[in-house]
Amino acid sequence: MCNLALINNLIKLFLPEVCVACSVELLQSESGACLKCLYKLPRTNNFLKENNSAEILMAGRIPFERIATFSYFADGGVLRPMIHKLKYNNGRDIGFLLGKIFGEDLLQSDFIKNIDIIVPVPLHPKKQRLRGYNQAEIIAYGLSEAAKIPVITNNLTRVVFNPTQTKRTKTERWKNVCGIFEIKDTSIFEGKHILLVDDVITTGSTIEACGNALQNCDKLKISIATIGEVL
Ligand SMILES: [Zn+2]
Repeated sequence: MCNLALINNLIKLFLPEVCVACSVELLQSESGACLKCLYKLPRTNNFLKENNSAEILMAGRIPFERIATFSYFADGGVLRPMIHKLKYNNGRDIGFLLGKIFGEDLLQSDFIKNIDIIVPVPLHPKKQRLRGYNQAEIIAYGLSEAAKIPVITNNLTRVVFNPTQTKRTKTERWKNVCGIFEIKDTSIFEGKHILLVDDVITTGSTIEACGNALQNCDKLKISIATIGEVL
């Protein structure tokens, strides 16, 4: 065991990591959140229902096939601390597992069966460097593990660095994201059915901006999957 791993294990021995959702002490094999909380998240199961609330939110804004969200994102809810850990506190394991569990759910219907490529909503490279990873990409790899569909991360790109969306109104959010995504090589996506993946859908403006950039690809079909849905 290298010194760093030894030190980490000693820290864990004296300061055991607890689940961000239920505060129970985590097992050695768990990271960030306990498996019980992850598997017991209340599901929207909306991939089983056409014209669900996420599809109604996005209707008429971009052409899409289907939209699925995994769980509800609400104040005081179990998902919120998990997404917070995923985004701001190196919670990659949580993101991967959420994606994988979601993918296992989606395999119960034909939602994911015709998808060719999984495409995470990109961060600006500068922001990704600051965070160390893109949380949507981590979720995408979890989905990919379950559904055995490849992930492409470097073709839809974010070309404008802008501050966080959190405190903006719907109109401000739209102005903030309009025109900030670009496709590097449209031929990679042409004729494909892609699954656009993000962590949480709130107003849908980020998804809409990605959808607008994707319109440059001929005969492209878009479906959308997010872990959280703000109702
Ligand atoms: Zn827990």
